[in-house]
Amino acid sequence: VSRDELALAVDIGGTKMAVGALDRAGRVRWAERAPTPSTPDGEAVWSAVAALVARCPLPTVVCGAGCGGPMDEGGEHVSPLNIEGWRDFPLRSRLAELTGLATYVDNDAKALALAEGWCGAAVGKSDYLSMVVSTGVGGGIVLDGRLLDGGAGNAGHIGHVVVEPDGRSCRCGGRGCLEAEASGTSIAAITGAPAAAADSAMVARTGRLVGRAVASVANLLDLRLATVAGSVALGFGAPFFAAGQAEIAVRSRLAFSAGTRIIPSGLGASGPLAGAAAVGWRGAGTLDPWIGSS
Ligand SMILES: [Zn+2]
Repeated sequence: VSRDELALAVDIGGTKMAVGALDRAGRVRWAERAPTPSTPDGEAVWSAVAALVARCPLPTVVCGAGCGGPMDEGGEHVSPLNIEGWRDFPLRSRLAELTGLATYVDNDAKALALAEGWCGAAVGKSDYLSMVVSTGVGGGIVLDGRLLDGGAGNAGHIGHVVVEPDGRSCRCGGRGCLEAEASGTSIAAITGAPAAAADSAMVARTGRLVGRAVASVANLLDLRLATVAGSVALGFGAPFFAAGQAEIAVRSRLAFSAGTRIIPSGLGASGPLAGAAAVGWRGAGTLDPWIGSS
């Protein structure tokens, strides 16, 4: 693979989608965005994706896509909770047919984890957790320099780590999960107002609970870095990260987990596209420098 070759990156979210052409350093050479049609008609959603892909003016050599879960391994069939028209939608094969490229699909939070190590806040790290705290809470884990997949491809799903044993009911059927306590949706349900309007006490509580989950992961997996993206976390900003860091200091006390840091994502607005491109390069076996080279 030459340094000049480009990956076609496809990011499909519940409210918007993006397509880009990214080089092997993670630079965006071209990108466009469009709203995701809000419709139960899955083919209408697919048509919007295909129209955006068709607008790419640059030649690309591999296709990578990030999409909400759940999905089966490799994204052969995706059923994103926030795209009602897609239930067992054959995303990977549709993209492969459309583009004629080798095509790889993964969970968007795992995709972001790859990108943090490729060109974000975890460059050079072989062991870290990457999180998204937004309307929901997701994550991905890189350990020993490899993105963890797990039995069904869902490793790193930190939104359902328990942080309040007697806490709120979670849509997964459990109780007190991080997502049920600290997601934008949950904060809105608790306060009666959008997360962006949360007061300082709620910001600190959210940071504390995220830090609690991070501390457990650090203790479990012998890692010392958590990067956090997502509109809720980044919107809350410094007070959120300070509260998370304080909680980690109390709860990550083992010799190998003490000193674990929680920091903002280094990817910025192009993070989801960088994640999708990283999925493509990983699939092609050429992701620099070595993350995901399983
Ligand atoms: Zn749950």
